[in-house]
Amino acid sequence: MPVIVQKFGGTSVADLDRIRNVARKVKREVDRGNQVAVVVSAMSGVTDQLVNMTRQLSGLSTPSALEEYDTIVSSGEQVTAGLLALALNEMGIPARSWLGWQLPLVSDAAHGKARIHDIKSDAIMESLNEGNVAVVAGFQGVDEHGRISTLGRGGSDTSAVALAAALKAQRCDIYTDVDGIYTCDPRIVTKAHKLHRVAYEEILEMASQGAKVLQTRSVEMAMNHGVRVQVLSSFSDAEGTLLVDEEEVVERKRITGIAYSRDEARITLTSVANIPGVSAEIFGPLADANINVDMIVQNVSEGGAETDVTFTVPRGDLKNALAVVEKSRDKIKYKSLNSDDSVAKVSVIGVGMRSHVGIAQEMFKTLADKGINILVISTSEIKISVLIAEEYTELALRALHTAYGLDTE
Ligand code: ADP
Ligand code: ASP
Ligand code: MG
Repeated sequence: MPVIVQKFGGTSVADLDRIRNVARKVKREVDRGNQVAVVVSAMSGVTDQLVNMTRQLSGLSTPSALEEYDTIVSSGEQVTAGLLALALNEMGIPARSWLGWQLPLVSDAAHGKARIHDIKSDAIMESLNEGNVAVVAGFQGVDEHGRISTLGRGGSDTSAVALAAALKAQRCDIYTDVDGIYTCDPRIVTKAHKLHRVAYEEILEMASQGAKVLQTRSVEMAMNHGVRVQVLSSFSDAEGTLLVDEEEVVERKRITGIAYSRDEARITLTSVANIPGVSAEIFGPLADANINVDMIVQNVSEGGAETDVTFTVPRGDLKNALAVVEKSRDKIKYKSLNSDDSVAKVSVIGVGMRSHVGIAQEMFKTLADKGINILVISTSEIKISVLIAEEYTELALRALHTAYGLDTE
């Protein structure tokens, strides 16, 4: 019998009516003759509430605090897994809930953002073979010491794709509150249109540049294991978006999608000595402090003796990053240190970039025409990102969407 994995996000399980609606979607796959494993998120808002409570009590600066963080914030998924299993039973469908540790889904011990090492599928497969639906709590696992772990915000997507790989599922259907992957976040750009197919590489870039419709790691996992992933709505029967290899995308524009991230902060060091080793002095300690530096730009002064260095870090890490840089002041010898946490990153993405020229120029001109100043630029083979003042995010997204011909008529 084919195995299908279905994943339902927070808004899809936000109340009991919606959980019953999910149960009907599960029943439909069972009635089609499939073995079904369902992965659920916490009810919408619950994880945020749990995170807030945790943060009120602790700065989460020690490993043991992070272990407790995971114990707390993973609990939302336990509730929805139980509720959905009950709802299915009430509809006459045998089902049982599975927590991360019961599978087990084994992860490393990087609490708060753990990576999956292995999913033991024997027990869940046995239960599926006995005719049960498996309702799995997403987002959570267990480390090798038996402590509960979580997979980073949005991690249920990754639980689902990993489970699909472990169960050799025919499909992994990600049900959410939009009916597919759009050219840009449809809540901001109302003229965004649905992509029927999107290449793994493109959605990987979109996700890592902020499009939270899929967690980045879930896309990596789907690519690496060849999992057939579909994104679709829990509230309609509209056709969704299929993740495919690049060759399978038929219609190709210069740009496939536009993503944005408000989770950014800028740091600038002025008048740093322009000598070998200085970048290592700045970025080495940041890496040691586990702070992920993203965009970097350096402007050398006229005589070449000094340079300004600007870079970005996740907004939540700004305070820590500043403290780390200040600690190395004697070695780096910068004149001043300043920062800004009201910046946003806007990225245009598409494999079409490989064969078209002038895409960056068009981005810069479009933003200039709207009077939007570019603070930092970074590029990769299929992506161009710019850092701008946060207040212009929506204006920039809409202007770029129009400029690249992505608007729906
Ligand atoms: P879930 O709770 O189901 O996991 P999320 O809120 O994590 O749902 O992700 C779905 C949201 O992603 C949508 O509501 C939408 O606002 C946002 N989103 C951002 N970029 C895109 C995009 N390119 N296409 C579709 N949705 C997007
Ligand atoms: N409930 C978790 C979160 O809000 C995991 C998820 O929804 O994917 O991040
Ligand atoms: Mg999500």
